[in-house]
Amino acid sequence: MTFIYKNMVPIHSLYKALSYAKENSPFYAEKLNGFDLSEDAVKNGILTQLPFTTKDDLAQRNKDFLATSIKNIAEYVTTSGTSGSPVTVYLTKNDLKRLALNEKVSLSCTGANEDDIFQLLTTIDRQFMAGLAYYLGVQEIGAGMVRIGPGVPALQWKSIFENNVTVLIAVPSFIITLLAYAKKNNIDYKKSSVKKIVCIGEALREDDFSLNVLGKRIQEDWDVELYSTYASTEMGAAFTECSAQQGGHLNPDLLFLEVIKEDGTYAVNGEIGEVVATTLGVEGTPLVRYKTGDLARYYSETCSCGNKSPRLGPIIGRKNQMIKYKGTTIFPNSIYEVFDQQPSITCYKVEVSKDYLGNDAITVLLEKKIENSPEMNQIIADCQAKIKVVPHFVFLEEDYLRSQVFKKNNRKPEKIVFK
Ligand SMILES: [Zn+2]
Repeated sequence: MTFIYKNMVPIHSLYKALSYAKENSPFYAEKLNGFDLSEDAVKNGILTQLPFTTKDDLAQRNKDFLATSIKNIAEYVTTSGTSGSPVTVYLTKNDLKRLALNEKVSLSCTGANEDDIFQLLTTIDRQFMAGLAYYLGVQEIGAGMVRIGPGVPALQWKSIFENNVTVLIAVPSFIITLLAYAKKNNIDYKKSSVKKIVCIGEALREDDFSLNVLGKRIQEDWDVELYSTYASTEMGAAFTECSAQQGGHLNPDLLFLEVIKEDGTYAVNGEIGEVVATTLGVEGTPLVRYKTGDLARYYSETCSCGNKSPRLGPIIGRKNQMIKYKGTTIFPNSIYEVFDQQPSITCYKVEVSKDYLGNDAITVLLEKKIENSPEMNQIIADCQAKIKVVPHFVFLEEDYLRSQVFKKNNRKPEKIVFK
């Protein structure tokens, strides 16, 4: 494998990260044993010969990833593992500083500054990293933060108006719920102080960077700037859009990025591959060539904002979320698109299960009011046209369906479940 990203390698910090992992983490002491990790070797692309780290490794040997004394751990965050049981990511005080810096750079990328007042619409407890990261980042910028957390649309609006909130940090699906609530209750949301929404956890754009149906639906209703961001707990770093909105920028001080195609070679400008990350400057749980399972396009051309760092396009899907249906592959995003574009639908959930032949079967849970509505014919036609499948439909009471999507223990809306 030729090391095509050679020019972009921060040699010294990569060298430091690799040797730190090998010397301090029992997992990497074993995994990287026998590899020459000298600065020269790093310069010559040794990274490409190192083994990948998988989600399974992290789940099965979780404690062996800890690269410092447990006494130095300041935060225990968890992320969902491959088998459903959570995996712990250990952070030292310095890792928290790294996280704060990451979010400062990330949020500043959207043009936010110390004059802004943020409202956090995602959870900060239950060991999730995201809420904490945004909180730290906002403090680092020197801006104000209102932590409302997920749900409670009435309280969200009350706080927005009372505190003159200018930036929301939220999952886009929840913004749809928030707008539906405002309309129903005659809240004059267009007069609010909100200027921007930093959208987390779900794709907001199409491949060509235009807004996807979810993004359009928000924007058509509400004239606010929408910014997309992609991050993962394991990376402890985010890719956030700048005002050019041409993909999320890498922070090259915090992460070394590889995007690897299905055939094992590197993605070049505009190509799709799996996001593989090596953390830089991490003390608690450093990762080397960590396969995130997320698929995205890689962009290496200088952004029109002038930033030369590589960018990632919208996350197209997860490797393990490709649905095989009658010989074709469907990504969840194309299913979401059909339902996101129906103005009458404010909540839905996709269930994928295996039928008796081992093929994937798709069921979509919808609100009861849709069942006998005229839109149903349009939905079926859209399914045929866009995903070439008409799923099985199940209709549920709106509140119950919502509770199945916006679950208390989840950071992201559970729009799809694989059974
Ligand atoms: Zn840019």
